[in-house]
Amino acid sequence: MEKRVVSQIASVSAGPPLHYCPVCASTVPAFRPGPRGRPNACCPICGSLERHRLLWLYLQLSTPVFRVPTRLLHFAPERSLRDRFKMRANIDYVSGDLDSPIADVKLDIQELAFEDSSFDFILCSHVLEHIPDDRRAMAELRRVLRPGGVALVAVPLRDADTTLEDPSIVTPEDRERHYGQADHVRYYGRDFPSRLEAAGFSVRADDPGGQLDEPFRALLGLNREIFFYCQRR
Ligand SMILES: [Zn+2]
Repeated sequence: MEKRVVSQIASVSAGPPLHYCPVCASTVPAFRPGPRGRPNACCPICGSLERHRLLWLYLQLSTPVFRVPTRLLHFAPERSLRDRFKMRANIDYVSGDLDSPIADVKLDIQELAFEDSSFDFILCSHVLEHIPDDRRAMAELRRVLRPGGVALVAVPLRDADTTLEDPSIVTPEDRERHYGQADHVRYYGRDFPSRLEAAGFSVRADDPGGQLDEPFRALLGLNREIFFYCQRR
């Protein structure tokens, strides 16, 4: 698939190399700088960032979300993705967040106001590291998924075997120093999937960016990130 995209883009590029955003399917001369001035980050058409484009590509290539009727719950929706999910005829889409103004419903992931088995697929990217009781949140994700349904989960991961989680780390300054961001409440380690398994999921860790070569990642402005594909047992 990637060779086809690269050759298509190369064939229309007479001058400097172009870039391609898989979210809005646009060919652009360059991505704009992103948060903290990070270069080659933001799509000038739809506003997607590197991890949004990686997620979108992964959903297209490695999940049935765009191919079968899917009731989809999207936590902490990113605007560029939300707008395009809503355009898809096969997707019955609900976005939710505790306080995001662009979410469809206000919800607490630790206590979801949905019936059991309400969804086929859940997107939960960069949410659990903010949640005080993440095990309860994982149990809620499982409860509102139908049997066999999938939660796609991503979190920041540190290079360590265990999750760093210390109840004495409470100030924004200390959280920034230990967890990497002022509003994070832990920093997950390689034991993260075991928490998901304990909540009743079969977990597969995917590294979609690692399966693409560097020129292709640069062309699409993609990052490297682990996606945990969590199927409800
Ligand atoms: Zn775009």
